[in-house]
Amino acid sequence: MYETLQPVAEDPILALMASYRRDTNSNKLDLGIGVYKDEQGQTPIMQAVSSAERLLLERETSKSYIGPAGSEGFNRLITQLVFGADHRVIGENRVVSAQTPGGCGALRIGAELLAACSPTGRIWVSDPTWANHRPLLAGAGLEIREYPYYDSAQRSIRFGEMIDSLNGAEAGDIVLLHGCCHNPTGADLEPEQWRQLAELIERRGLLPFVDIAYQGLGDGLDRDAYGVRYLAEQLPEMMVVTSCSKNFGLYRERTGALFLIGRTPAQTERAGGQLFSRIRGHYSMPPAHGGAVVETILDDTGLTALWQSELSAMRERIRYLRHRLVDRLEQVGVNGDFGHIRHQRGMFSFLGIEREQVVALRKQHSVYLVESGRFNVAGLSNGSIDAFVAALAQTVGV
Ligand code: PMP
Repeated sequence: MYETLQPVAEDPILALMASYRRDTNSNKLDLGIGVYKDEQGQTPIMQAVSSAERLLLERETSKSYIGPAGSEGFNRLITQLVFGADHRVIGENRVVSAQTPGGCGALRIGAELLAACSPTGRIWVSDPTWANHRPLLAGAGLEIREYPYYDSAQRSIRFGEMIDSLNGAEAGDIVLLHGCCHNPTGADLEPEQWRQLAELIERRGLLPFVDIAYQGLGDGLDRDAYGVRYLAEQLPEMMVVTSCSKNFGLYRERTGALFLIGRTPAQTERAGGQLFSRIRGHYSMPPAHGGAVVETILDDTGLTALWQSELSAMRERIRYLRHRLVDRLEQVGVNGDFGHIRHQRGMFSFLGIEREQVVALRKQHSVYLVESGRFNVAGLSNGSIDAFVAALAQTVGV
């Protein structure tokens, strides 16, 4: 039976990782895959996570099933983290939360439910967006449309065109938005732009689907959640996904959450029932461990403070690297305009170089970034910035 299956084109990011591993150059530099790295190039386990794991080892008494919605405690605490404890959707019983296998699990199961209830079955995504959004959303049966988002020449958001394009959306269409630290561009909406979007979404009868996979890695936990919280305050219905992969460093534990906001408590409960039944028919229930770690941290003021300080240090390191890189590029006089990298947010930005130059960086200097020129800022370090700048100088000129 399997003979009918065609070979799959290699995933470009995974292929890049594989060629990085094969590269024997001891000075090779991985700026490809989106994981946080420290000064030593490691993706460390956060101390708050290790402490929580030790506590769990002592306290856990059972590995019995946790149910399709996951842990109640995790769901309560992650909802407060994303929306803020005092948010109206919590007080009004208009949010239902599900612990999911990572942000990907949340995106997929959310898309499944939306495909079943959106009258048009269409979702608008930013051009560009994270590469895995397409398979996750289209695989659930949603038809994908794009709205303009990033202007590579100006290195800024094409907000006017984005609004014009979304003004062409039909009632019942869904709009995927990045809550913060837009992947791959690093270019985030400003509060005033979120306000204009909320007005458009309401006027055209659209449903916002916000992916906030990097909360805490841009400007801080609360500031990064501005857009999500604002839309949830203004609009009757919404869907939100979050991930604990980056801000808790729990990548392989597959920990995330899906939030469904409905018009009324009764409608929210009914939709939640549909959500849990779909989860049951997919992966049945989420893995417990990562959620238990997050719950242990957020339920303990000492561990929460430790986690927040570790997260701040990660955020500050990324910010520092952004500034230091651009300072060095300007001092050396590398051709091009890199100023946008300073003020963009999160782990990614585009360098704004050509595909051939990306290939030359890899082949001649063992510097690995994805073909679009997106690079992981957190993959740099004080020890590697000068070599990276020198490689860029040789590749694009001074
Ligand atoms: N959304 C975006 C924008 C992402 O970049 C990622 C991870 N790279 C995710 C969602 C999903 O993360 P995970 O499934 O690993 O939690």
